[in-house]
Amino acid sequence: MRCPRCSFPLTPVIHADVEVDHCRRCGGAFFDPGEARTLFGPEVDPATWRALWATTPTGTSRLRCPRDEARLEAHHVRLPGKRAGPTEVEVDTCPTCQGLWLDAQEGSTLRHVVKEAAAHAEARASGEVKPGVPAYLFQVFTSLPIEVWNPVRRPPVLVYGLVAVLVGVYFFVELPLQGLLEAQPGLLLLIPKELFHGEHVWTLFTSGFLHGGIGHLLGNLYFLWVFGDNVEDTLGRGRFLTLYLVAMVAGALAHAALDPGSEVPMLGASGAIAGLMGAYVVLFPKVKVWLVLFFIRFRLGVTWYLLVWVLMQLGMGLAGERAVAWMAHLGGFFAGVILAFVYRGGEKRLSSM
Ligand SMILES: [Zn+2]
Ligand SMILES: [Zn+2]
Repeated sequence: MRCPRCSFPLTPVIHADVEVDHCRRCGGAFFDPGEARTLFGPEVDPATWRALWATTPTGTSRLRCPRDEARLEAHHVRLPGKRAGPTEVEVDTCPTCQGLWLDAQEGSTLRHVVKEAAAHAEARASGEVKPGVPAYLFQVFTSLPIEVWNPVRRPPVLVYGLVAVLVGVYFFVELPLQGLLEAQPGLLLLIPKELFHGEHVWTLFTSGFLHGGIGHLLGNLYFLWVFGDNVEDTLGRGRFLTLYLVAMVAGALAHAALDPGSEVPMLGASGAIAGLMGAYVVLFPKVKVWLVLFFIRFRLGVTWYLLVWVLMQLGMGLAGERAVAWMAHLGGFFAGVILAFVYRGGEKRLSSM
């Protein structure tokens, strides 16, 4: 076998009862599955660091497997923030034989980074690391939740995109066309009576991109930001977008079906975003959120938080609330729950094959 880095012949070297194929020129080494674990500890094993939030696959590597010539896969393992010592390392694995290539010193660096990342995650998840004073004041004034710990592996580009689209539509479409929208609300806003007469069917979608004011817009964007990123990260972009649009239409239909003769226009992205919240509780039922109630800060499981949220929507419904489209929230939420179950079930079948 030859070194994938410098094509020097690899020499079998025995270390702690493990035979490793070592390159004497560049100091790299090739490990068969399980060998790196025996030599450096469980942190270096791909099964350990692949499960970590700190790992991002970065595509195919330039290197080829010395055993079977397959192109290696590159992975970026990193620590957040500024710290002493090494904070990131690029590792290559073979998709065919599941072998692992480590350049000189990468074994000990990888071990250090993975250990630190695991400790960091535990400190955050256990509530040992609290959000700062600005976050506390923000929560006192808004009563909004903050995730305790649920990082993403990839930048959530669709969430960024949706934020940009919703803000853009508000400032560059809605505000300039305010006169038109007030004169002919049924053109872009959802009016149940018109929908059930087969008129302006596109308002099932267009109403989901418009907001009744800056407060309405900001509230929706916050929940999109908090719950959307992890759903996009876990489901992938295609399924995230499908879920968002299905929840948008489900919410609008549920709202319209509640009072089909209504001529009151409905608008807002909250049905679609409620769908993301529904998916979130299915995908991450054990994640906790920080809440502030009567100036006291505490952690609550997201499942309980969203259960209270659902009950509040029902309460508004029973109280005859008309200003909030609570039925759109519930329709979107349960559409998200169902789709996330479908997607999660599909994933389990695939991974068990
Ligand atoms: Zn070499
Ligand atoms: Zn291989």
